[in-house]
Amino acid sequence: MLVIVFEFVSWAVLAAIVGGWLAGLLGALVFVFVAATAHICLLAWRSNRLLHWLRKTGLDHTLNWTGVWLEIGQRIQRLLQQREKATADLEQRFQDFLQAIQASPNGVILLDDEGRIEWCNDTGSAHLGLDMQRDHLQHIVHLVRDPVFSKYYAQDTHKAEVVIDGRAATLSKNIKLSVQLHAYGEGRQLLLTRDITSLAQADAMRRDFVANVSHEIRTPLTVMSGFVETMQAIPLEEDERQRYLQMMSVQAERMQSLVADLLTLSQLEGGLPPRVQDRISLPELMGQVQSDAMALSAVLSGQDSEDMSPVHDFKFDPVEDWSMMGARSEILSAVSNLVSNAVRYTPAGGRICARWYCDADDLCFTVTDSGPGIAAEHLPRLSERFYRVDRSRSRETGGTGLGLAISKHVAQRHGGELRIESVVGKGSTFSLVFPISRLSVVG
Ligand code: ADP
Repeated sequence: MLVIVFEFVSWAVLAAIVGGWLAGLLGALVFVFVAATAHICLLAWRSNRLLHWLRKTGLDHTLNWTGVWLEIGQRIQRLLQQREKATADLEQRFQDFLQAIQASPNGVILLDDEGRIEWCNDTGSAHLGLDMQRDHLQHIVHLVRDPVFSKYYAQDTHKAEVVIDGRAATLSKNIKLSVQLHAYGEGRQLLLTRDITSLAQADAMRRDFVANVSHEIRTPLTVMSGFVETMQAIPLEEDERQRYLQMMSVQAERMQSLVADLLTLSQLEGGLPPRVQDRISLPELMGQVQSDAMALSAVLSGQDSEDMSPVHDFKFDPVEDWSMMGARSEILSAVSNLVSNAVRYTPAGGRICARWYCDADDLCFTVTDSGPGIAAEHLPRLSERFYRVDRSRSRETGGTGLGLAISKHVAQRHGGELRIESVVGKGSTFSLVFPISRLSVVG
């Protein structure tokens, strides 16, 4: 500013001297007036040029000015550049913040002070079926039409979360969402949604499991306590007493098998993966399974177990001198469950064939029986815990309803799978299919 005033005064003094020297006092006044007008015009032109530059030119443009105007221009330029950078930083931080909320596995919906949707992330849209183009500033209660949510929204405080059905839920696919409102700012609310479908499923499974185990244990316990009461109340003949004791022993065995299978399952679920260094001799394993199967066949037919003459037609193919890498006790229990099922569900005189073989990719154990077979609708659920097609046959023959669940688990722990093929009236084939990398050929 001082520089401009100094420039103006210099022009005026110079004009006064020149005007006074040429035409006296009047000349000096005229020259000062002309010089002042010229200076004002020059100022106006320069200001206009500055304004034009501010409006049109990019901030990185080099200024070809001189003197005080160059300094003014440069200062303004620096200030504007700083402002522009601060705005860009702010925008970047805002975008980072939005991306972080987008990356959240939970739904985030921002509501204004009237409960209208201002913004929501993709997860929130998917959970509640919102479309931000269409639903922006729509009231949340008009869009989430779950009575549980409406009631929850109407409450004054929202300390706890509530569970509602997700938008994508169908009759066959149950999606459960946990939602909670949090107040923030001036009357605004943050709605958080969380998909708890798998938690809810796990909870339902746990409840079913406890109910099934209780049911399985209650039945033999009721039978046993009935016999105990009878024996306490009525004096019995010796042969009748023996019969009752025999029936009680059957029920006790049933509970023991159930507890043993439950322990096996829990060990499989919680245990470390099987060690690959351990070698299982398949011919030796097959020999044990075969003699157990023959003994079971004899016992189930009601014969003397020492007689050991099976009532089924067994064909166990000889196994090559192979070893398998895995946990022997697990593989034995998986194979035994399949073979004992074949024996238990195939009527006397039926044929049961078992063999180990391998192809390019897999090492397989398979057992085929000529039993009643299983209807196709049961096959997908057969390896669920306590799922039974023939409940009474399972009970009569000491089944726990856990055999196939154990076999499937063991197969999976060894990188394989349980496959089931069956045709009603023709028989069934159960196979354990392991990756060929589990095979170790001896010699
Ligand atoms: P369980 O102890 O009841 O045999 P599993 O898990 O071993 O339990 O088998 C589940 C159900 O699958 C059985 O209850 C039975 O109905 C059916 N099942 C299993 N193996 C056979 C088979 N070889 N033939 C016919 N049905 C079978």
